[in-house]
Amino acid sequence: MTLPEGFASQVVRWQRSHGRSGLPWQATRDPYRVWLSEIMLQQTQVSVVLGYYDRFLQRYPDVSALAAAPLDDVLALWSGLGYYSRARNLHRCAQDVMARHGGAFPAASAQLQQLPGIGRSTAAAIAAFCFGERAAILDGNVKRVLARTLAFGDDLASPAAERALWQRATELLPEAADDMPAYTQGLMDLGATVCLVRQPSCLLCPVQTLCAARREDRPEAYPVRTRKLKRSSQSLWLLRAQADDGSVWLEKRPVPGVWAGLYCLPLFDSREALEAAVPAADRAALLDEAAFLHVLTHKDLHLHPVRAQFAADGWSRAEGGWFAPAQWPSLGLPTPVRRLLGA
Ligand code: SF4
Repeated sequence: MTLPEGFASQVVRWQRSHGRSGLPWQATRDPYRVWLSEIMLQQTQVSVVLGYYDRFLQRYPDVSALAAAPLDDVLALWSGLGYYSRARNLHRCAQDVMARHGGAFPAASAQLQQLPGIGRSTAAAIAAFCFGERAAILDGNVKRVLARTLAFGDDLASPAAERALWQRATELLPEAADDMPAYTQGLMDLGATVCLVRQPSCLLCPVQTLCAARREDRPEAYPVRTRKLKRSSQSLWLLRAQADDGSVWLEKRPVPGVWAGLYCLPLFDSREALEAAVPAADRAALLDEAAFLHVLTHKDLHLHPVRAQFAADGWSRAEGGWFAPAQWPSLGLPTPVRRLLGA
């Protein structure tokens, strides 16, 4: 496969004139800030990340502050951003940086990759932005841009094909370390704003004359991926036990599992199981609220909230406790629970 000549320089030039700029994490080479933004941006749009990024930096201005924080506080601040394993790894990573690297992120992608929650592409992005390392990124968006530019027809579900694309991505890197931040950002910007999954804006694309998929007039044929994500679905019943003073009963979810480590209404696999957790005398007063769908990456959750009213201290379970409304904002709550409670 011949590589398109001038690809890197086109991407760099376009990023400097047309790419996204002015984002708060672009104004820094501080690995802590760049790392934080990269983790938040995984599977989450820039517009959503902005507010979270600011709040995190206000609360945890450096890696030592984050490492010293209780995990519950970190999860609470992450609440609503989803994919909570990212927040748990963020916390573990900060603690590793303090314990194993003296509080300074390592300056090479090979070492960054050893830290919790930092994969090869994220390590390369941090190293390129902060240290100008010539390391290739290959997240989902970039795979699409490169697979199309190269008309890379091998099935990316196969590890060998993925390795081959990493190899091409490395060969396409610019020569100059100074160009690495703009090139890396440029690929991300192209994937996010121009080379979209459906109906890519090829007429606006800086590499249109180099792009083999465009020449074939079938950009959407790439990347090839046969193995689809297997989705499952599950029904869960949530007991919204409320005390006279407005407190609700919340329990910390076990790790691993759905919403691991977050505070949640008690969850049950069936309405019968939920009823069994309530005194017989109170079951007739259980009130079914409207069921709704909550979509996770691999799973559709059909959630059935059921409300129960108790006198203060009139009910309890082995795990968990009563939490007053004033406490809810400071807890890590799954998004649907937060919405249910109006927290
Ligand atoms: Fe994507 Fe079209 Fe650009 Fe090719 S020309 S990289 S398909 S936007």
